[in-house]
Amino acid sequence: MDMPVKSAESLDLFVNAKQQFERALTWVDGLKEGIIDFLINPKRTLHVQFPVNMDDGSTKTFHGFRVMHSDVRGPGKGGIRYHPNVSEAEVSALAAFMTWKTAVVDLPFGGGKGGIICNPKELSRRELRHITRRFVAELGDNIGPYTDIPAPDVYTDAQTMAWIYDTYDRMHPGGNNLAVVTGKPLDIGGSLGRDEATARGSWNATEQLLKRGVVHGMHTLEGARVAVQGYGNAGSIAARLFHDAGAIVVAVSDSRGGIANDDGLDPREVLAFKEETGSVVKFPGSRAISNEDVLVYDCDILIPAALECQITTTNARDVKAKLIVEDANGPLTAVSDEVLRKKDIVVLPDILANAGGVVVSYFEWVQNLENQQWSLEKVETLLNERMCKAVDQVVDLYDELSERYEAGFNKDNPPPTLRDAALVLAINRIATVVLQRDIWP
Ligand code: NAD
Repeated sequence: MDMPVKSAESLDLFVNAKQQFERALTWVDGLKEGIIDFLINPKRTLHVQFPVNMDDGSTKTFHGFRVMHSDVRGPGKGGIRYHPNVSEAEVSALAAFMTWKTAVVDLPFGGGKGGIICNPKELSRRELRHITRRFVAELGDNIGPYTDIPAPDVYTDAQTMAWIYDTYDRMHPGGNNLAVVTGKPLDIGGSLGRDEATARGSWNATEQLLKRGVVHGMHTLEGARVAVQGYGNAGSIAARLFHDAGAIVVAVSDSRGGIANDDGLDPREVLAFKEETGSVVKFPGSRAISNEDVLVYDCDILIPAALECQITTTNARDVKAKLIVEDANGPLTAVSDEVLRKKDIVVLPDILANAGGVVVSYFEWVQNLENQQWSLEKVETLLNERMCKAVDQVVDLYDELSERYEAGFNKDNPPPTLRDAALVLAINRIATVVLQRDIWP
């Protein structure tokens, strides 16, 4: 197996996931080769194609994927993405991230992910409904409350989840099917706090990381200058929560471009402007910058909250932030990780930083199974506790790996990062269950 730091950079997300995993494996002792193969590769990959009648009278064939990466620790869990760039490799990588994420925050889930190749911006509500319902019908019993549980991701939302629930419920009448999908509207079993959960969890995790002194010279968010790439669910809410905690949001972007103001942007006003005009671009009082400029903007904290492979060896050297909080999944290539480490830039990795979404999805699942509705206060308190505990466990492990490195262990490889520590924690937790359940038969 090639060492990751010697591997070539790839923009294939699954190659990056494997490179991250292989690098973390250098810190794990005693796993058999066959177990390693089992832990990295997806358990099951479904590729379905189906026709849909479009509004203009034409019929179009769509391709959809659902990958269950692992069900070792519990049912598959992970979002469904609607985007033109969806591919089997991308969905497989995102499913692997989910396996590791649910293990890092210690949820009784495995990892899954789904996606449909489509451009929702060009589809009507009726077309989206038909695509969603037909996809769920094609997936059949490969999803379910105890098998594999979808959730929202890029360009899918609570309405999409309502259609998924309704379709599944029609296919399985007579039972409580609410727990088949999370991120639903509140009136049909959604959880209070799910909407904000990803961003809130990343804010909770960042506060805890700063308290632990991992970022030199930054112990709180007070006065920290923040740049955010992507102004959707994760990005816009993170901007607001970081701002409310005392940070100054100096630059943000969406798919149409970026804006900056060194005196600070008001995240609520930017969101209201985006909702009115469709973009953050041309927000009054801001300076226009490019999407690329946002990533290398002069700031203390960079929050990539859009898509994957945004920071590569092409721009990693120009990143000025001291801390990168990965609200998006896979926004950094594995090779750029090493460039950033050499620059002493701390990366709060996606499988920890954005785990708040799946944590509150888990809370929603529990509430659905018990026919309960928890208060917002309870959800936010339990989310904060779980995120802080996971950060503490990852930082403790990172300190331990650093000490081992100083003592001469693993010297042929680069020093550990927080991503290595988070992955080692996940791999150990999953491998422990594999070995305890033992290999069937
Ligand atoms: P979203 O659809 O709500 O928002 C995506 C945003 O990214 C939009 O503002 C869009 O304009 C912007 N964008 C797209 N391409 C861009 C580009 N090239 N440059 C800058 N901005 C661009 O999606 P989301 O749910 O906020 O997801 C964003 C990221 O967070 C994804 O990587 C997703 O996997 C991850 N994530 C989301 C959740 C969740 O609960 N929503 C949970 C965990 C991780």
